[in-house]
Amino acid sequence: MIKGQFPLERFKSVRTPFYYYDLELLDRTLDALQAALAPTPEYRVHYAVKANFNPVILSRIAARGLGADCVSGGEVKAALQAGFKASDIVFAGVGKSDEEMILGLEAGIARFNVESEAELRVLNDLALERGKRAPVSFRVNPDIGAHTHAGITTGLAENKFGINYEQLIPVIRTALELPGIEYKGLHFHIGSQILDMSDFVALCNRVNSLTEELRSQGLPVGDLNMGGGLGINYRHPNHLPIADFEGWLGTFRRFLHTEPGQLVHFEPGRSIVAPCGSLISRVLYVKEGTVKRFAIIDGSMTELVRPAMYHAYHRVENISSDGPEILYDVVGPVCESSDVFAREEALSECRRGDFIAIRSAGAYGEAMASQYNCHRLPEALY
Ligand SMILES: *Cc1c(COP(=O)(O)O)cnc(C)c1O
Repeated sequence: MIKGQFPLERFKSVRTPFYYYDLELLDRTLDALQAALAPTPEYRVHYAVKANFNPVILSRIAARGLGADCVSGGEVKAALQAGFKASDIVFAGVGKSDEEMILGLEAGIARFNVESEAELRVLNDLALERGKRAPVSFRVNPDIGAHTHAGITTGLAENKFGINYEQLIPVIRTALELPGIEYKGLHFHIGSQILDMSDFVALCNRVNSLTEELRSQGLPVGDLNMGGGLGINYRHPNHLPIADFEGWLGTFRRFLHTEPGQLVHFEPGRSIVAPCGSLISRVLYVKEGTVKRFAIIDGSMTELVRPAMYHAYHRVENISSDGPEILYDVVGPVCESSDVFAREEALSECRRGDFIAIRSAGAYGEAMASQYNCHRLPEALY
């Protein structure tokens, strides 16, 4: 099996488990993204900070001149500290607190992605109290993925995210009348780890018909934010280390109708940072069960929760050994049956002390680490 290249000598002096970030791969990923963006100057990217807010990673992305997509006041602060300009920060979230909205207003962020009329009215009041106008886009729930037809509304009303189709036009009219609000555009985000481009085609079709309807009613559309969601290849991190930014943006170029000069924003998170991160652990014990062989490692769901939380697949490699491969269930020490990284995964024969790399862990890994079982938060090596 072809394995990733890791600086094992440097690993020996670091306490496991820790995150290792390959910054050279992050740079190549950002190069690929920027090359895919270059032909369309109206296309702008805001990195979704929630995927990874490690300050080294954040400032490396900020240095490229990308914007930041934040989902909390804490993320807005982290983005500002990392060097993102306030005028390049957008702020989404279904439950923004007053404190968070005030922080955004005072920093002068580019956009509040508003998800309800109630939120709009609170933001209007907070802006007026400060003699400001809040720049607002509405997050629309386009009901993509769950259904295939426009106008199926059963799922919309119950969904926590976004404003549903029926309420959108009235809420835009309200926004145009509120003195503390500046209406700027529409926002969409249909999900994550999407590899089937037809989901994005469906989104484009939905957005095209929506913008047509707004125009026919004499309402402004403003700019469009098509969200994030581009997936990566978790199975083959060594062969396919960079997400298909070209295919993704090309889908929008082909299917999304825009007016000349109309800006289109994107908010990729996972596709930028997932490939460059690995969780590095050591084998503690190899245990022969009745029907299984377990490699018990010191890394766990407290450093990387995705397998336990979403049954997510991450490739696992024994990077200390090139020996013959054996099937293992790779498990952590936490007192939960779900603390399992891989089942029946072929690894080079494991011995106590071997380094185990859990690949493609740069997104929703370190960012979701917890201290459950009194574990320490993992450190990072670059
Ligand atoms: C999580 C999120 C993103 C990023 O999604 P990825 O799948 O990591 O690209 C973008 N926009 C919004 C509003 C989000 O909540």
